[in-house]
Amino acid sequence: MLASVGERSVSVVVRVKRDGKWTRLQAAYGRNGRIRPGYAQVGEKQQQFDSIVYEIRTYESRQAKYKTVGRNAADAEAERQRLEKEFLARAVAKDAGLKIEQKQERKTLRQSADDYIEDCRDRGAEEATAKAQLVCNEFLKTIKKTYLDEIERKDILKFHAALRKRGCGDRTIHDKHNRVKSWFLFEKQDAKAILPPSPKYDKKLPTIYTRDEISSILAAAEPKERLAYLLALKCGLREQELCHLEYSDIDEELMTLRVRSKSAYGFRVKDSEERDITLTDDVLAALKERHEKHPKDTLVLPSSTGNVDRKMLRTLKQTAKRENLNCKRCEGCRNENNECQHWTLHKFRRSYATTLLRNGVDLRTVQHLMGHADLASTTRYLRPASAEEARAKINAVDW
Ligand SMILES: [Zn+2]
Repeated sequence: MLASVGERSVSVVVRVKRDGKWTRLQAAYGRNGRIRPGYAQVGEKQQQFDSIVYEIRTYESRQAKYKTVGRNAADAEAERQRLEKEFLARAVAKDAGLKIEQKQERKTLRQSADDYIEDCRDRGAEEATAKAQLVCNEFLKTIKKTYLDEIERKDILKFHAALRKRGCGDRTIHDKHNRVKSWFLFEKQDAKAILPPSPKYDKKLPTIYTRDEISSILAAAEPKERLAYLLALKCGLREQELCHLEYSDIDEELMTLRVRSKSAYGFRVKDSEERDITLTDDVLAALKERHEKHPKDTLVLPSSTGNVDRKMLRTLKQTAKRENLNCKRCEGCRNENNECQHWTLHKFRRSYATTLLRNGVDLRTVQHLMGHADLASTTRYLRPASAEEARAKINAVDW
């Protein structure tokens, strides 16, 4: 007679957060015999939870042992069935006087990423958890390998290259690289052997427009362009956010503008962070005025054919050139196109963040308005006050 492998000896349990504490509960099964994803058995009832981690419980000399599977119910059930078979095989082998030697288990990348994210969450590190989710998912999408032990140095370099291709700067790549590094260190991988050095970046202050430059370009621009620059300067919109902006995104009553993804145009907000931005009186008035003149438009800043205008940057550079606003020193000014590198749409956005911070708007608010996924991106815009300003402030302190 073989040692029986009772149904209870290998079971799926879930770890859930209940009243702020992590608790283990039985997984909930539906009538079809499958695990109900997101549910746990609480007494007689099945209850839904926001955050569920599946585990397999086994017993070793009557001691319960738990093994994390991840967030996928089907994976958990598959692992339970596999373990049952393994136990049965061991029992059969033992019966025959044989011993099964197990090869070390290979961990999948997905599983590893989930464990790492879970670890960040367990440590209560909210920002780190959000970043870990973002970076791990980006990494898995880019590096299509199955197992953790397959990752090589060249995969990390491929990840850098993919980020660069998507328009990420050295600083962002550096940050994401460090996140991956912390993931591999968590897995006690030989990180030194795998990881190439992270890209270096110079900690430069972001460049912004001067007041004179802003008034010159606003005075020179056509009405549509003028509105675009106002929106970039006073709402901090990115180029893609500008050209996809629709009148339906404006809430006149609340005086806000919502930045959101537009699936019809295949436009997605960066880091999936939709946000509401406060509109100033003059920008709202300019928006209303334009809508009255073009009542049939849905896009606020359409091209001449009524489509998404993908030439806004080109137009800005042409206006600067026409109005003799080029710096005449940069590489762009010196080559034959004569397009100055100092005139960019993004520079309005940088001016926006810097101006808000200089005028005492707090960091968290600016982070939200800018749609930054992390505070570090926002602190970059904090400039030290000039010596004179600092002296005035320090002198005014009531010691
Ligand atoms: Zn120039």
